[in-house]
This record gives sequence, structure tokens and C-alpha cells, in this order.
Amino acid sequence: MAKSNASENQNGIVYSQANDADQEEESKSLSGAIGRLEEENKNIAAALARLEQESAILRELFNNANNELNNLKKPSLLVADVVSIHGDKATIKLPNGNKFYCYIAQQVKDLKPGDAALVDQKSLNIVERFESNDNFEVEKFVIVDKPKESWDSIGGLSNAIIEVKEVIELPLKKPHLFEEVGIKPPKGILLYGPPGTGKTLLAKAVAQSTGATFIEVVGSELVQKFIGEGAKLVKDIFNLARRKAPSIIFIDEIDALAARRIETGTSGEREVSRTFMQLLAEIDGFKHLDNVKIVGATNRLDILDSAIIRPGRLDRLVEVGLPDEDGRLEILKVHTLNMNLKRVKLKEVAAGMGDFSGAEIQSVCTEAGYFAIRQERSFVTQEDFVKAVEKVAMGVYEDDSAEEGLFG
Ligand code: ATP
Repeated sequence: MAKSNASENQNGIVYSQANDADQEEESKSLSGAIGRLEEENKNIAAALARLEQESAILRELFNNANNELNNLKKPSLLVADVVSIHGDKATIKLPNGNKFYCYIAQQVKDLKPGDAALVDQKSLNIVERFESNDNFEVEKFVIVDKPKESWDSIGGLSNAIIEVKEVIELPLKKPHLFEEVGIKPPKGILLYGPPGTGKTLLAKAVAQSTGATFIEVVGSELVQKFIGEGAKLVKDIFNLARRKAPSIIFIDEIDALAARRIETGTSGEREVSRTFMQLLAEIDGFKHLDNVKIVGATNRLDILDSAIIRPGRLDRLVEVGLPDEDGRLEILKVHTLNMNLKRVKLKEVAAGMGDFSGAEIQSVCTEAGYFAIRQERSFVTQEDFVKAVEKVAMGVYEDDSAEEGLFG
């Protein structure tokens, strides 16, 4: 009995040993499976995190697109100036000059005359005050620079240089001379003459010689690009010039603003004349010895409104004409200064040029350089110049037909 128990026991032990081995095996494979599941779980968690991230990005994109779509569907609002306030109503002025009496929405608080406001296109009621108009950054719209061009970079134009020095340079450099003698220097100068004759160059050179800030504005851009803002821009440009004084405001194509016009009454006309009026008001508004000078430039003196050249305004008129043969030679010398020339007779080149402007003479030099480069030469010959003159002349004649009649 005891043996059988023992054997049973023994069997039991044998059985339990086999059972343990199985269990161990099973537990091993289970822990392997758990390990794999954990690994898989980790991978799934990582994939889930990635998908969640992706879904957040897609949601964001969707929201943005949706917002953009909603914004695009909204009617745009007009920007108008508030002229006067009458309780919950106001008089507003639209950019085209028309005035309207309209209702101010309740949420618009503290609106004052002179503010800019956003108005509904259909009803013209004020729905918002327009804040960003206050910090309209004029510097983004004009070129503000400290030019490097010196008097030496100008060929010929000796009379024009003398005038510009007298009117702009002297009062900026030695204002006491004018105070002692008791005269008022002109506030500005008007340079007139054909395109490419060095008007911009003169203005830059005087800014350079006086260390003044050079503020360049193009008349046609002022009236075309900034519809409704022209007058404000003029005001801001003069304020900028005062802040950056000593400064020179160079108004190229001033005829686009200051041309004599027959009042047609169109909104475009009114816009240009408002901008012009503002320009005159600004010129009148500063003192003769303020450190701000104005240089206007035009190719069309014949169409200018006399108001701009009245005494006290741009009353010194200086012609910047096409150079004569000596002038052309001077300009050639300036532009060939750094060129590698071989036996080039500049005098002959200047004589063969006809009525070339300074800009065209500069083109001749560049073209002559190209003829040398094309032949893989590092120096420029007389022949290159002859060919360059011919090439530029072909362009000249085309231009001439376009400009016919302007300068006889
Ligand atoms: P636009 O009426 O078309 O504005 P502009 O009279 O102002 O012309 P600039 O812009 O001064 O002419 O000249 C154009 C280029 O031609 C200058 O950058 C310069 O290289 C050259 N140039 C013109 N005139 C002269 C000159 N007298 N001396 C040297 N370079 C000149």
C-alpha cells in the first residue's frame, strides 16, 4: 500500500515534474506572446499617435480652408473717411469723393471725425472702425536711400550742377549765409528735359554731397497705384522727410500729378487733383530753410500746371538737355573709367553718336563690353564701340519715333 502510494507519489511527482515542464514551456510561450503583444501594442500606439497627429493637421487644414472659404464668401467692405458724427449717424467720404449720411452700427465705439471706417458696400453703414490705417507705413511705398553717386559720376551738365548746388546744396550746408544776407533760398528745383539725361543722377548726387536722405517718389505711381491714398501718401512722405531731415524729396514724372488739366469731373481727375493740392499745401507748409528740399523732374515741361512753379514753390527751373559732343565725351569718360580699353579714341566715339542721351551712352559702353566678351577678349576696342553705337542707334531711332514732337 505504502509502495503503491509511494509509486503513486512517485508517479505523482513524475506527473507534477512533467506538468511543471509543460507549464514552464507554456509560460515561456505565453510570455513570448505577451512580449510580442506588448511590442505590437507599442507599434499600434505609435501608429495611433501618428494618425492622431495627422488627423490634427488635417483638421487644422480643413478649418483653415473652411475659414478661408467663409472669408471669401463675405462681401468686402469699403474704406471711408469719417467726416462728422451726428449721434448714431455719420457723414462719410468715399475714396471717389462722394459723401454719404449713414448709420453707425452699435458695436462701433469711440468713432471720431477724421477716423477711417469700414462700411458695408450696399448700405454704406459703418460696421467697423479701421485701425490699421493709422500706421500706414509710407516707407514701404517710396524709395528711401543714402545714394552713393557723387558729382564725379556726372558727365557734362556743368550749368545744371551749378544751379543744383546753389539751390539745394548751399542752403543745406550753409544756411547761415542766407540768414545773414536775408534772402530765402528756393524750396526746390524743377529739372526738365528728355529721358535719360541725368535728372535722377543730379538729385542723387546732391543728396550724396549733403549727406541727405533721398526719398524717391514717382508721380505716375502716386496716382495710379495708390488710388484714394495719394493725398495721404504725399502728406506722409513730407512727414517722413521732416523726420529724416536733412532730406531731399525727388518727385520723378511730376507731370503725372501736376499737369494742367481740363476738369472733367471724373473721380480719377478729382483724385489726381486732390493729390496735387496736397503736394502744393505741403510745399507751402514748410519754411524755406527747413532741411527738406524738393527736386521735381519731368520730360513734359510744356504741360505743367503753373501753380507748381509759382514763386515760393519749385520756382527754379533747370534744363537738363541732351549732351553736345563735349558733354557726350565727358559722359563716355565717366562710364569707361573702369573699362579695359585698347586704343579707343573716345573723342571719335562721341562724335559718331548723334543725339544720344546719357543713358544711351551708358548702354553703348555696356554693349561695347559685350562685343569684347562674345569674342572672349578681356579688352574693348574701337571696333566694339562702333558696333555698339550702331546697335544702340537702332534702338534710338525706334524711341525717337515714339517721342517725336516732344522736344522738336
Ligand atoms: P528719366 O527722365 O527717364 O527719369 P533721367 O533724366 O532721370 O531719366 P537718369 O535716370 O539720371 O535720367 O539717367 C539714367 C542713367 O543714364 C544714369 O543712371 C546714368 O548711368 C546715365 N546718365 C545719364 N545722364 C548722365 C550723365 N550726364 N553723366 C553720366 N551718366 C549719365
